[in-house]
Amino acid sequence: MYDSHTGVGLLNPMNVVPLYSMFRAMGGSELWWQVVFTPYYTASFLVDELRPFPAVFGPLIEAQIPLLPNKDNARSFKSHRSESDCNITTCQTWKDAGKGIREVFDKLTADIDLRENTRVADVSILPNGKKRVRDEFDNVLDVDRVVFACPANAVGNIHKAAGWLANVIFSTPVYADDHHPDSGHMHAVLHSDGSVIESPHREECLKRASNYVEVTERDDGSINIENQYNFGVQTPGPGVYDMPLDEKPVMLISHALGEGKSIDEGLVVGTANHARAHPLYSGWNVMAMLSLRLVQGRDGIYYCSNWTTPGNCHDMSFLSGLVCAHAIGARYPFAGNGEARKDFGRLRDLMGF
Ligand SMILES: Cc1cc2nc3c(=O)[nH]c(=O)nc-3n(C[C@H](O)[C@H](O)[C@H](O)COP(=O)(O)OP(=O)(O)OC[C@H]3O[C@@H](n4cnc5c(N)ncnc54)[C@H](O)[C@@H]3O)c2cc1C
Repeated sequence: MYDSHTGVGLLNPMNVVPLYSMFRAMGGSELWWQVVFTPYYTASFLVDELRPFPAVFGPLIEAQIPLLPNKDNARSFKSHRSESDCNITTCQTWKDAGKGIREVFDKLTADIDLRENTRVADVSILPNGKKRVRDEFDNVLDVDRVVFACPANAVGNIHKAAGWLANVIFSTPVYADDHHPDSGHMHAVLHSDGSVIESPHREECLKRASNYVEVTERDDGSINIENQYNFGVQTPGPGVYDMPLDEKPVMLISHALGEGKSIDEGLVVGTANHARAHPLYSGWNVMAMLSLRLVQGRDGIYYCSNWTTPGNCHDMSFLSGLVCAHAIGARYPFAGNGEARKDFGRLRDLMGF
């Protein structure tokens, strides 16, 4: 699985050739890409622009999230509907409504001087080599090393003396919201209004579907992909996760409703904004990530975060932080776990440590 991303595999041209270009060159239609491929995978990657996906990802995503599930690449179960039905399970790490996740953050920040709701305005290098970190309230802190763990554009704004090469690298990553600043997954609405799902499918989807995706053509001919995440089924909280499926309350997260659709405001419980949350999977982003090694650690300044990895996921973003911490002297905390240790080594290679 890692062959194309490590060792001589890095020279594989398919690392940067877009999957879309290959697909079109082989005769695939634009409509199939827009109406089948993109909507199918947006729900997994929370990214609505998949054309820059490097071709090397093609077999990997088919292995993980098959478009054509069969007995070799997917598990099925006997149910009242059929002999080989899909099986909906609760995401175990979220079944206690994020208690485990909060525990992780508590452990990560134990015994450190944590400042919340404080924007870092700039980082400058002092003549004695120390770094001066200034926040938006004009508080300053002089430190030996700095690890940036924020979006690439924020690094560019904060680290003004980074130099031209670093600035080229910081300005290269493209995020999903660069393509869909007001649609796609940019705005999320959390609510309990089941009417957003078409009535013939509503009951079945609310009970069993992890996602509901509606693809419509707008008046101007462009395609709208509406994504509903069914959290009532995927990740319910305490007192809900162990209820029988048919008794669970409606709990949806909607994005980019199709024209003419609306959500009952009385049933909305919250909203979210995904700006800068998802770097695209693209050859340019992979090149920026690999080039980062040219400036990583220079002047005691390090970079971690999703855009410093080949993905846009929790695990790798978190691991990139461990890689930087290790580079400046921290002990790797999961040395006893062979598989975790392998991933740590792989990401260190990719990040150039
Ligand atoms: C709704 C949603 C669902 C997702 N689902 C999944 C999933 O199921 N699985 C998965 O693996 N990934 C998922 N992701 C992606 C994953 O969350 C991100 O890739 C990952 O959290 C990125 O971590 P990070 O540390 O790079 O960035 P973030 O977690 O975004 O942290 C960056 C931090 O930098 C701070 N910051 C920015 N500028 C400044 C400044 N000037 N001063 C101080 N602080 C600053 C921000 O406030 C933020 O706290 C999801 C993302 C979203 C939004």
